[in-house]
Formats: sequence, structure tokens, C-alpha cells
Amino acid sequence: MNTDSENFYNQIVNKLKNWARINSPWAIHFNSGSCNGCDIEILATLTPRYDVERLGIKLQGSPRHADVLIATGPVTLQALDRLIRVYEQMPDPKFVIAVGSCALSGGVFDGCYSVIGDLNKVIPVNVYIPGCPPRPEAIIFGVVQLLESLKKGKNPQPITVPDEIPEIAVEEESNGNE
Ligand code: SF4
Repeated sequence: MNTDSENFYNQIVNKLKNWARINSPWAIHFNSGSCNGCDIEILATLTPRYDVERLGIKLQGSPRHADVLIATGPVTLQALDRLIRVYEQMPDPKFVIAVGSCALSGGVFDGCYSVIGDLNKVIPVNVYIPGCPPRPEAIIFGVVQLLESLKKGKNPQPITVPDEIPEIAVEEESNGNE
């Protein structure tokens, strides 16, 4: 294969990879010291009530298959090595979403003897989602903002999700007894 056709082939492959990444980002969830409140909201985001999988966002078990690391909690001394290992195992390009006030600033755990502090002290964060815990709407909004900035083809600047995100009205299914 000559250089021109090799370049053409690489461009097509890169375009396809970007298209797939933007339309179906695979995420891994990591709790680096959270009280579990934020993790429950992430589960609510993934499970049928909000069901982000219908939009192509898929939870992955292995960091080697993930594009996005969704992390909760402050970084504790116990979780530090594992967090770095998970981040390093993810293929490039990779993105980090910090969920909850503790991941953003250490929150209520800041200053604790076993806590290093916010996530940004250890790995680079692309999206900050405040709240204790943030609602699923805020988490979805954060992911959408990240994907929008990737669509523009640039390295995303740090994004902070505003405090007030409108609630998504989810219709309750009737059980037939009414
Ligand atoms: S932000 Fe609130 S809910 Fe989330 S880990 Fe911290 S204390 Fe828990």
C-alpha cells in the first residue's frame, strides 16, 4: 500500500472510530471513596427508569473497553492505586466525568486522614457534575455536553454542569388496577 492510500485508509478508520465513540460511548463506573449516594444515582441513570442504554451509552466491566470513566467520591488512600490503574488501562482518547460534590472538592470528606481530596488531584477531569448527590438528569446532561464537544472535533475543555437542570418527566406505568 502506498502512503497516499494508507493515509486515506487511516482517515476513514479514524472517522469511523469517532462516529462510533460519539454515538455509543462505553463507560466504566468507579467509586473512589463515595458514600454510595452518587453511585445509586448512576445506577438510576443506567436502569430502565432513565435508561441511557437506549441512547447508546453502555456500562462496561473492563477499563480496556471503556471510553469514559464515571467516578464518584473523593479519592481515598485505599482507592488511589486502583483508580490510577483503571485510568491507565483505558485506551486513548479517554474522558473522565466526576460525579458529585465529593469528586469535585472532597466534599464532606475533605480533610479526613484517609482522603487525598478531589479527583482532579489524581487524574484529569473533563466534566464536573455538582450535587450531593446529583440527579440522573444532571448526569445525562453532563454526558451529552461531553459528546457535543467531541462532535465539534476538539479536545473538550473542562465542562461544569449547572446546578439547575430541568427534571425529566417519566411517566409511571399503570398497573391496570385503576
Ligand atoms: S456527593 Fe454526597 S452522595 Fe455523593 S459521595 Fe459525596 S456525600 Fe455521598
